[in-house]
Amino acid sequence: MPLTIAEQLVQLAELARVDHKQKVTADRLEALPAAAKKADAQALKIKVELDSVAARKATAEQVKRGAEAEIADNRAKLRKWEARANDIRGEREHAALSSEIGGAKRHVRELEDVVLEQMQTVETADKDAATLQKKYASTVDDARGEWQKVDGDLAVMRTEVEATRTQRQAILAVLPPLVVRRYEQIAAKKQGVGVAILSMQDTCGACNRIVPPQLCIQVMKGQVLESCPACMRILVHHSQAQGQNPASEASNG
Ligand SMILES: [Zn+2]
Repeated sequence: MPLTIAEQLVQLAELARVDHKQKVTADRLEALPAAAKKADAQALKIKVELDSVAARKATAEQVKRGAEAEIADNRAKLRKWEARANDIRGEREHAALSSEIGGAKRHVRELEDVVLEQMQTVETADKDAATLQKKYASTVDDARGEWQKVDGDLAVMRTEVEATRTQRQAILAVLPPLVVRRYEQIAAKKQGVGVAILSMQDTCGACNRIVPPQLCIQVMKGQVLESCPACMRILVHHSQAQGQNPASEASNG
């Protein structure tokens, strides 16, 4: 048996109340773990810094290994050249080889400087990493603590969300689909509030404009499913709305 207009209005008012409750709970769910989320973000930031320090260290180690390999090559060359220098008799040849040896030795010294520099970089990176690691551990602890603080409340709220969803589905099951669609289209355009309660003073509870008397009477009698001429929300008479006025509640919270 389909609902009468009057019954649909009652269900619509209930739907608006349920939707408002859902929105409030969703906002609270979002806001409640603010400190925990902040701590999470802080931990993530430190993790990024740690990664960058690790990358800096890896690069330094790579450069150091390259320089060390080159030093080893040069030293091997030097040993050969120095052995050969003893056997060379010719003045010119000897001078040429000496110059080569001198150059290689200079190069080895330069490479040794590079190695030292990279060792310093690695050492600094290790120190930075140790500091950050400590900071990271304490931030992760903070975050865990903050989440624990709100864990219980979050669970309660999630249960509320679930209950509200069930309530909503029950209402949607009895309302004509076209009415639901109209309500949802209006709600989508009107900050989630698709129904306005007609006040005792014959004003729209959402936008506060005066509603024409003839329309007020029809709404009160449950004869029409009409929108407020000013804000387009579906009008439900206060006597038909069971819960609180969703619009005025919304403006308070
Ligand atoms: Zn209005």
